[in-house]
Amino acid sequence: MEKVKTLIIGSGPAGYTAAIYAARADLKPLLYTGMEPGGQLTTTTEVDNFPGYPDGIDGPTMMVELQKQAERFGTEVRIGHVNSVEFSKERGGMHKAYVEDGTEIHAQTIIISTGATAKYLGLPSEQKLRGGGVSACAVCDGFFYKGQEVAIVGGGDTAAEEATYLANICSKVTMLVRKDKMRASKAMQHRVTKTQNIDLRYNHEIDEVLGDQVVEGLRIFNNQTGEKEEIKITGLFIAIGHKPNTEIFQNQLDMDDEGYLITKGKSTKTNIPGVFASGDVQDKEYRQAVTAAGTGCMAALDAERYLQTL
Ligand code: NDP
Repeated sequence: MEKVKTLIIGSGPAGYTAAIYAARADLKPLLYTGMEPGGQLTTTTEVDNFPGYPDGIDGPTMMVELQKQAERFGTEVRIGHVNSVEFSKERGGMHKAYVEDGTEIHAQTIIISTGATAKYLGLPSEQKLRGGGVSACAVCDGFFYKGQEVAIVGGGDTAAEEATYLANICSKVTMLVRKDKMRASKAMQHRVTKTQNIDLRYNHEIDEVLGDQVVEGLRIFNNQTGEKEEIKITGLFIAIGHKPNTEIFQNQLDMDDEGYLITKGKSTKTNIPGVFASGDVQDKEYRQAVTAAGTGCMAALDAERYLQTL
């Protein structure tokens, strides 16, 4: 069993920014990275919209730099997954976190920055072929389909961005949008429609992913006419949004219908004193690296102020 002032769970921009601020405030934070050290940005290539990088920076490099910055001020970063938590409802009480390797952490404050994970359609044929041609990250896996025909599902900014990314690598991208319009911003939609090798299909959904060991095609249907069609592809990319990583906090922290943590007013405070939430785990609206970093900073300041009042 180890005692700490501040435990940070998660290693995206929110977690590392919280660590930088908490370490500089001498809270000697301990940070557990979770199963995907660096978080969602490690699956991105170029990050062009984070202030301070006029020439852009690739996601994995940015996360390594954030980690170094957090460590420079004394954050202890450990690779590992927190399996469960037991929060004290008492003000000033110790919160417990149980790590997969059996370590038990008792923390005065906990900052939750566990982020969100990509959603899948849930079709049995899709699940069977995950890793065999079905992917939720075009930037991670698109390269494997160089020169081949692929499909992408979704009509949001992620789907639009990934469709244009794939169109650069692959010979053809079929984009399946379930409604008669896209949810993506006008600028992103424009990028899609002006890309010649994107075949945009509105009102289309997947009936079945075809193939035994690897993806060989799709049976798709028009949800207006019911008409079915088979297309040949080797890669299927799912870009239909994310689910917050909050399972371990169920029945302890207040969440909305989709499982996003609820924070109080403009703060990062949860319903439990000494437990704070930052980044995508509590934000389904902005979901940007810079907004996640901003709330990470807020969580560390909230934790510091809470400790001062004990
Ligand atoms: P969104 O929730 O915005 O979009 C999800 C898309 O997937 C919608 O088109 C939705 O359709 C569709 N969808 C959901 N479930 C299914 C299903 N079962 N079958 C078929 N289609 C489905 O998620 P994103 O990941 O695209 O974006 C998340 C947030 O991140 C947004 O706020 C976005 O603006 C932001 N973002 C910004 C970027 C940028 O600015 N560069 C890049 C990427 C994301 P429907 O519309 O019918 O519900």
